[in-house]
Amino acid sequence: MYKLSAVTKNYQKGRSTVAALRGVDLVIEDGEWLAVQGPTGHGKSTLLQILGGLDRPSSGIVEFDGRDLAQLRETEVTKVRAQSIGFVFQTFNLIPTLSALENVEAALVPLRVGSAARQQRATMALEVVGLGDRLRHAPGELSGGQQQRVAIARALVKEPKVLLADEPTGNLDEDTRDDIIGLLETMWRERGLTMVLVTHDSSIARRAQRIGVMKNGRLGFKQPRPGQAARFQAARAGGSLSTGTPADLEPPRLQAPDLAALKGSDLDSEVDEAHLDSELPDFGDPDSERADTITFD
Ligand code: ADP
Ligand code: MG
Repeated sequence: MYKLSAVTKNYQKGRSTVAALRGVDLVIEDGEWLAVQGPTGHGKSTLLQILGGLDRPSSGIVEFDGRDLAQLRETEVTKVRAQSIGFVFQTFNLIPTLSALENVEAALVPLRVGSAARQQRATMALEVVGLGDRLRHAPGELSGGQQQRVAIARALVKEPKVLLADEPTGNLDEDTRDDIIGLLETMWRERGLTMVLVTHDSSIARRAQRIGVMKNGRLGFKQPRPGQAARFQAARAGGSLSTGTPADLEPPRLQAPDLAALKGSDLDSEVDEAHLDSELPDFGDPDSERADTITFD
């Protein structure tokens, strides 16, 4: 899915340059779940933004499905993002004046899905995440966990190949955290997603197939525990995580309606560029100003 070679990212900050990424090489296979850990300010969100085509590297190659996102024209990158990449953020990033349904629908506007099909697909996506009875609620009328479920529905309603989640449980209490991770895990397994999940939480990271660690703008990997990869292969094939997973970590079993059946022929490829960024109202990283400790010498 991804092949990154020698990716760097420098930010200009006043007189100094912050080297947020210092040469990242990374291959992510189709259908893989990669967790990324590391201290605040060491480049995790920057890496995710570059994987998502939200930002460009200063140098290096960011191959996604055979095309270098670093070289594509902006309109092309925007298309890739609208069609193939779903995002989930720590702060949910829902539009406060829109209902849950409208927030999810917003992801389909750039794909030129007609309004009836849009409503139908957004409704089903919200049912999948367990919010079928909250369609008309505004974000402010929902709990944090419910808001994050809306954000997950918004990310997945377009049936992306990739789901990028930046500390999606960072603002949630422990029980809600487990629900949300369980939901993401179910979605990953049932939809064949490629998933990159940034988290501070080791107990969450351990559920991924592979754990990367960002330190000073460089990416390393933890040694996989014996049997871990095999366990996930089995999970994908058989739809169960029973081997080696404590019962209390089992994700809820959700029925995923067949969204593909709802796909209209009009949404295959053409993208309405005027609305391309409507699903991303505010891409801000609350962490980014906290630590600019990494500077060029
Ligand atoms: P993490 O997600 O690991 O906390 P980030 O990727 O957000 O780290 O940030 C890495 C470094 O880059 C930090 O030092 C941060 O201050 C800096 N940085 C991130 N975004 C910007 C930006 N838009 N402008 C300037 N510096 C930035
Ligand atoms: Mg971050």
